[in-house]
Order: sequence, then structure tokens, then C-alpha cells
Amino acid sequence: MTTFLGMPATAPRGVGNLRGDETFPAAAHHALADDQLRRNLRHATTTIRGKSGRVIAELPDWQELRSAGSALKAFVMANLDSLLEQLEARVTAAGGVVHWAADANEANAIVLDLIRRTGSERVIKVKSMATQEIGLNEALEAGGIQPIETDLAELIVQLGNDKPSHILVPAIHRNRAEIREIFLKSMPGVDPDLTDDPPVLAAAARKYLRETFLSTTVAVSGANFGIAETGTLAVVESEGNGRMCLTLPDTLITVMGIEKVVPSWPDLEVFLQLLPRASTGERMNPYTTMWTGVTPGDGPQNFHLVLLDNGRSAVLADPAGRAALHCIRCSACLNVCPVYERTGGHAYGSVYPGPIGAVLSPQLTGVADNASLPYASSLCGACFDACPVKIDIPSMLVHLRNKVSHPAAERAAMRAAAYTMDHPKLYARAQRAAKLARIAGRRGRGLPPPFSGWTASRDLPEVPQQTFRDWWASR
Ligand code: SF4
Repeated sequence: MTTFLGMPATAPRGVGNLRGDETFPAAAHHALADDQLRRNLRHATTTIRGKSGRVIAELPDWQELRSAGSALKAFVMANLDSLLEQLEARVTAAGGVVHWAADANEANAIVLDLIRRTGSERVIKVKSMATQEIGLNEALEAGGIQPIETDLAELIVQLGNDKPSHILVPAIHRNRAEIREIFLKSMPGVDPDLTDDPPVLAAAARKYLRETFLSTTVAVSGANFGIAETGTLAVVESEGNGRMCLTLPDTLITVMGIEKVVPSWPDLEVFLQLLPRASTGERMNPYTTMWTGVTPGDGPQNFHLVLLDNGRSAVLADPAGRAALHCIRCSACLNVCPVYERTGGHAYGSVYPGPIGAVLSPQLTGVADNASLPYASSLCGACFDACPVKIDIPSMLVHLRNKVSHPAAERAAMRAAAYTMDHPKLYARAQRAAKLARIAGRRGRGLPPPFSGWTASRDLPEVPQQTFRDWWASR
């Protein structure tokens, strides 16, 4: 464990999956050329949106639930230090061991060491954003341990040597023909006559995974919630693979972001209503697994909880940005985002795509390392309306845009504009010049360089025939 004195650190470079190889505009440009990807995304996001909207409409107190979820998360952020210490004490008292990881490097080293001490050479994994964030699979493989993803979509991503592109549906960018190809190429013991019928593909994965569940003694999971009052951890999932990982092995290692703590058991009542309706469009999660430390003779007999910071304290330090830590990873904001629906998740370069990724990733890494992400939005506000814990993503995007360092030409143009607007005579002359430019035919052609980038994707507003000053003078 490392003790930090001074400002909280951002997530380190060179490890994990929070930074892309190219900027968002460059990566989006490639993604937009892929028709198949756009068809897959449109179909999936439209289906989830419709389903979610129908079950949300059944609840008369949905807005009150959203407000309660938001208030609970704000309370957690204001009391994070004491809640985490309470969680540590309760988990320890129940027979678990708690480890504190300042960043991805520490978390990966802790998990690798714990697995090595069991003598196992492979682990089964429950779908977990935190372990994707820190690049745990890559670290385990480098250390000679084979990680096997057991969520169907994560398995498709892993076997395809791919990256997840959606928080909830990591293989949203793949269709069934592509999945068949991946299974035929990479799944051990697969039937060579495999078809692309979805039940057949699911059965192939189930057969492979059943054998793996029964022969692996160590599991790694994330956690949706950690209850400070009791030391209970909770994982919600849809396939039952999580339940197998959390109950069958001898050793369970859970990596949990520090923001996932909730004060008490009744708080789950709010989140377990919000999460399934906003994410999968279900009234309740098919599988909700909870455990408290170790129970002799029942379930894993060794339990380790790794509490992960990796930039979260830096996010917490910014009062205007910290609400990004309220996220319960439902993915509703992705499914309503017009930008995400066209580019998909890979364009964001981070394991957290879509609107929440555009505000969370730059804060975890420091804005300079993800400077294009706060601009990956039209600021339409659909994400704010959809978020079950009322995170005001559009305001946060504007806040982060102000932290990005802007090109010298843009800064000079803004200074000149501010000076002009501050001097009425100069402003009137500028208006007359704009009118002349319109008459001279610049209309519809955008701005000249170096400002042409601004109008490359926006319409230049038309200068009116008569300005307000002219109108006023004429009276
Ligand atoms: S920001 Fe809100 S809508 Fe988006 S994933 Fe997080 S909780 Fe869900």
C-alpha cells in the first residue's frame, strides 16, 4: 500500500484501458465508415431504449427514485472516507481480507500475487468494468495466469482478441455471423459444424464454460455495490455465470472502485429498482448475488476485496466533476446518445464509452490525456434525462471543455471577440462588415481558415437583413 501526501493522483499511463491510441474525431471517422457496425448499434440501442422506456413508465415514482439515488450518491461522496473504513472493518470481521490499491499497477500486482499464492494457473472472471479499466487480463497473462471471461459478451470479446464497446453489451458491435467465426477460430473443443443460430451459439459457450467453472478454483469479480454497514458485496447480472463464479471456487478476489460503497442495506432498495429498468429494461435483475465475508462450508473459503482508487480521488477533488462518480454503470446514457449510436464505443478509446465515458475518462486520466472526449457530444441533454441517478453530464462536459487547453489561434479569436463586444462602436462596425461579407457571397460557405474547422461540422448562422441597432435606429 502506498500513502500519498499532497494532491490526489490521476490514473497512471502505460497500464489499463482509459486512453485510446487516437483522438475521438480520428477514431470516429474510421467507425463511421463501417456500415455493419452502425446497423448493429442502431438495432441494439433502439431495442434496449424501447424496452427500458416501457418498464420505466410502469413506475409512478420513477422521478422520486432518481432523486433518492442522486441524493444517496452525493451523501456517499461527502462521506467516502468513513464509509470505506466502515466497509473495511465489516469485511474483515466477516473473515475477508481488504487491500487498498492506489492505482492500476498496485491493483494488478495485488491480484496477481493473491492468485499465485493459491497455486492456480487460471481464473474465471465475472464481467467487471473495474478490471477492464486497470487492464487486469493483460497483467495476468503477462504474469503467466490465464483469465477466462464467463459473461457471454465478454467471452466473445476475449476470444476475438477485441475490446468491449458498450458497458452492458460489450460485444454490441458484433453480429451472429461474426460471433460464429470467432468461436470456430478460438473456442477450445467447439463443434466444427457450429451454425450462427443464437441458441446454438449460446449452447456452445455454455458447454465450454461449464467445464471451466467446474475445474477452476479461483475467481475474480467486480462489485456493483459494497454495503458499509454490513460488509456485504453485491453483483448483479443476467446470465448466471456470475453466480457460478461467486459461489463455486475456493478463492474469490473482488476488485471494487471506491465509489461503489453505499451506506446501508435499505439503500439497495433504491438502486436495485433503478439499475435493471435503466440498463436492460427489466423489472429486476435475473441474478443478484450478495455475500458477506466467508461462510464456513458454503461458497469461497478465501475472500479478498481490493479497493481501487486509480484517479477517483482526483475526480472527487473537483466539486463540478465529482458527480461522474455517482454512475451506477447502467449504460442508459449510451443507448440514448446520438453520437454513441453512430460511432460505437471503440471511438472513445476508453473502457468507459458514451456520455459517461466522455466525462469520467478525462477526469480519471487528467483532461490532457483525453482532451477530445469532452467534445464527443452535441450537448443535446438526452443523457441527463435518461440517467437514473440524475448526473448532469452536459454541464460537466462544458466544465471539462473549459479545462482543455485551446489552440493559440482560437484563444486569440476569443479575446478579439470579447474586446469587440465590449466596445459598442467597434461591435457595430463588425456587424456591418459581417453583413457586407454576406452580400459578397460568403453565405453558406463557412468561415475561412484558420476558423474553418469550426464550421466544417456546423452551419454558419445567417447574418440578418436588419440588426437590432438598425431596427432601433429606424424608430
Ligand atoms: S451516467 Fe447515468 S445513465 Fe450513464 S451509465 Fe452512469 S448511471 Fe447510467
